[in-house]
Amino acid sequence: MTQPWLIRMHHWMRSASFTMLFVATGLHVAGTDFGPAGWALLVALFLIYPQLQYRWVCRLDDPLRAEMHSLNVDSLLLGTFVAALGFSQWLAFTAILGTLSNSAANKGREGIWQAILAVLGGAGLWIAIMGFSFSPHTEWSATVVCMVGLAAYLLAMSNFSFLRNSRLRQTRETLELRKHELLSANLDLRQSLEEIDQLQVKLREQATHDPLTKLYNRGYLDSTLEREMARCRRDGVPLSVAMIDVDHFKSYNDCYGHPAGDTCLKKVADALQGSARRASDLVARYGGEEFSLVLPNTDSFAAQQMAEAARQAVEALAIPHEQSATGWVTISIGVTTMVNGQENSVEGLMRLADQALYLAKHDGRNLVRVAQDAQPAVAAGEAGISLENPVQLIWKEAHACASGMVDEQHRALFSHANDLLGAILAGRPANEVTEMLDALIQEVSAHFQDEEAILLASGLAGAAEHVAAHQQLVNRVIEMREGLQSGTVDIGALFQFVAHELIVQHMLGADKELLRQLELQV
Ligand code: GH3
Ligand code: MG
Ligand code: MG
Repeated sequence: MTQPWLIRMHHWMRSASFTMLFVATGLHVAGTDFGPAGWALLVALFLIYPQLQYRWVCRLDDPLRAEMHSLNVDSLLLGTFVAALGFSQWLAFTAILGTLSNSAANKGREGIWQAILAVLGGAGLWIAIMGFSFSPHTEWSATVVCMVGLAAYLLAMSNFSFLRNSRLRQTRETLELRKHELLSANLDLRQSLEEIDQLQVKLREQATHDPLTKLYNRGYLDSTLEREMARCRRDGVPLSVAMIDVDHFKSYNDCYGHPAGDTCLKKVADALQGSARRASDLVARYGGEEFSLVLPNTDSFAAQQMAEAARQAVEALAIPHEQSATGWVTISIGVTTMVNGQENSVEGLMRLADQALYLAKHDGRNLVRVAQDAQPAVAAGEAGISLENPVQLIWKEAHACASGMVDEQHRALFSHANDLLGAILAGRPANEVTEMLDALIQEVSAHFQDEEAILLASGLAGAAEHVAAHQQLVNRVIEMREGLQSGTVDIGALFQFVAHELIVQHMLGADKELLRQLELQV
């Protein structure tokens, strides 16, 4: 296994400097009575110890740590050596300076103190065991080797320090480079993530929006309706839906060209979007030149007002259309309202709105119409009129009863009630609406009088009761009319009472029954 650079460098330095000390000491003791035991110790210390130390360090898990400890062992051994030679001045100087500078280079100031203590410890140990001797003289040949060796050792150490610093600088530069590479990779990554985010937003937008008008698309409309219908069932809140179709759009394309048709659709879409008042209102392109409004938590009356506002908003765009009766591009709207979650499917609800749209087209276009049977049939359901959608009264032949005059009056009342609704939805001034309402109430009272004359003359059993019912209805409407003035009743509620209870329920219920008896009697 390749050892760290520092370990290899230390091994080389230790081997070289200890060999140099071995040579210098050999020259110093040559010719003296230095016995074989002394030589054996010299060989063991200067030639064998550096090799054993290297092998030992290499086998450990943390060789660098062991190497730092070895520096203290070096100092201890050299302290013993110095004392054993009686502090021969050049040998002692070379050995001590060498080990101190090596320790200082590797461990700093702490290393110097550790080395001094180790040298003193080693010398003290020798003196304690073998006694103190002092012979500072050094042979001249040993002195020369020490001088040259020490100089070489210090120069080599300086060179190694320089090499180590260069390596450190290189490593730092490489790290700095890697850091910049990482930062730039990180930046690239962040940019890519932002692009992915933008792409996801775009994809989501494409999945839910119509590219031409930027409105929600059919898929989103269907899923929203599913959700809102479930909420309607769960929470019992009303849900209104409007189907919108541009009138005579085929002829618009034929007349102005398809690109102009596209521009027109965009303008219509913007106008519809602008007419949605609440954040929860959803405007979608159903397909072609058809749009849808989903109005959560909105009852029939409010939905019709919204639809009327949308119709007016498109009319106000004043987009010229030669083939249209008005001269402008207009829309027809069919509205339906789901209450109590009676409708099961999105298709069913949309079919009702579509039927109302068909009525709007049938009645002349540029109109708002309401689905007729959005509620299960109850009393008035027989007449094909929804209690939930009380404001569109449509006369059917099945409503006719025995008397031609009564039928005629009923038909007129239906029509006037519808006119009044139109005025309310169109936001006509309050005094104008109130005048129309008063006229309708007058008309109802007059009709009651005509009907009572026929009934009383017939002597039918229930006639007197029927007259009393008329009186009750008239009293009630007068009360409500006063409520309107004092602000306790709103115009919608008063209209609902007149149109529904007074006209529809009474005429198509009680009147019809009594007049049928009259017919039987005749
Ligand atoms: P009505 O009043 O009964 O609705 O008459 P209409 O002509 O609008 O009815 P119809 O449904 O027959 O015509 C719809 C036309 O809308 C036909 C088609 O060419 C046009 N259309 C559908 N989608 C687009 C579109 O994206 N761009 C354009 N320019 N025209 C479209
Ligand atoms: Mg259409
Ligand atoms: Mg159309």
